[in-house]
Amino acid sequence: MTHPGPGVMPGLEPPTAPAAARSASADAGEDAAGPGAALQPQLDAFLAGHEDELIAFRRDLHMHPELGYAEHRTTRLIAERLRAAGLDPRVLPQGTGLFCDIGPAEGGTVALRADIDALPLQDEKAGAPYRSTVPGVAHACGHDVHTAMVLGAGLFLAQQAAAGLLPGRVRLLFQPAEETPGGALDVMAAGGIAGVDRAFALHCDPRIEVGQLGLRTGPITAACDKVYVKVTGPGGHTARPHLTADLVYALAKIVTELPSALSRRVDPRSSLSLVWGRISAGSVANAIPDDGIAEGTVRCLDDEAWHRAPEMMKALLQSVAAAYDVEASLEYVRGVPPTVNEAGSVQMFRDAATPVIGEEGVVPTPQSLGGEDFGWYLESIPGALARLGVRTPGSSGEYDLHRGDFDVDERCVAVGVRVLTGTALTALWEGGRPGDAEPVQGAALA
Ligand SMILES: [Zn+2]
Ligand SMILES: [Zn+2]
Repeated sequence: MTHPGPGVMPGLEPPTAPAAARSASADAGEDAAGPGAALQPQLDAFLAGHEDELIAFRRDLHMHPELGYAEHRTTRLIAERLRAAGLDPRVLPQGTGLFCDIGPAEGGTVALRADIDALPLQDEKAGAPYRSTVPGVAHACGHDVHTAMVLGAGLFLAQQAAAGLLPGRVRLLFQPAEETPGGALDVMAAGGIAGVDRAFALHCDPRIEVGQLGLRTGPITAACDKVYVKVTGPGGHTARPHLTADLVYALAKIVTELPSALSRRVDPRSSLSLVWGRISAGSVANAIPDDGIAEGTVRCLDDEAWHRAPEMMKALLQSVAAAYDVEASLEYVRGVPPTVNEAGSVQMFRDAATPVIGEEGVVPTPQSLGGEDFGWYLESIPGALARLGVRTPGSSGEYDLHRGDFDVDERCVAVGVRVLTGTALTALWEGGRPGDAEPVQGAALA
């Protein structure tokens, strides 16, 4: 749209011609660009009345951050605002986090997810009037921004629903405890994605500028699990290793051979890696101990390799241990799966974002080695996570996530509301049913 109303960043208006062309073709019903362009005047009007409120909401959360499973105030504020808009939010059984349905159940259901928890970090921002008032707790991952954006999208969609304009149902998911992690599993246990056809989420990205959206088909975040190996043997004198089991030698073999054998059992593009962080055995120079341990982390970019990793590792461990006549056991603790973006859902993000930020605003984004528990939802249903630019154009500050000085250019809130709203409506209007979209496998590791 061309008029820079509130919420539209100067310089971010898309070119007039494509937007107008899309509006005109929207009458055909099967507009490939989705409803994004036609929506913008209504979003302009909505944001003129609500952008300041959403930014104030974000700042309030920022000043009162709450750690995972302790987000009681945050949950209450979100629920109160949704009720004030005539909606009926449902708080999760453990008391924090909530979800809220908008629109008719017929016609498919699309979820927009925000995470609401903060981090155990000191807010080190200098000069921001909205810095954290809670010592040692800060919204340093942008979840306050995610919450404000999904709330904004929900308030707008509630207006659409009241006017009978919503072609299906949108479920707002305000998830607790992303950083802990585990909140996604609680949402799922409470039926939060039951009946949901697709799920979408935005995450703040300080590496790209406000007015940009980073998209990627296939895995966009990584898995990170922990492994604990315990090795036992009879122990004995170091003069007679042949009469016992040379446990320290065996443990050293396990520690060196497991990572290299593992990397040769999976597609190298999956980047399955095992890195040890702790090893311990024995207490004196001349006695072979009867037990030893090794602990490490497993990171993986590929969902299939991640699923196979525990069994593979167990088998390899047994074969190495057997060669040296020691007993070995493996405890494999799952973290989060890789978040694997489905191609059709990524395209919906693209279709919704283009009228808002222009084609040049949509940029490719690399896969992060960080974890994100949104990946749990996408194990069950298709969807996508996108990176929302939050850096002020031209700024010299090197903000990063999980740092005490992390902050955003708050114009990102309006961009996020527009993108989320457009994406949800695109998904509903295009059917958004699982199986409609092209499979993701081939593109996953491209
Ligand atoms: Zn984080
Ligand atoms: Zn985060």
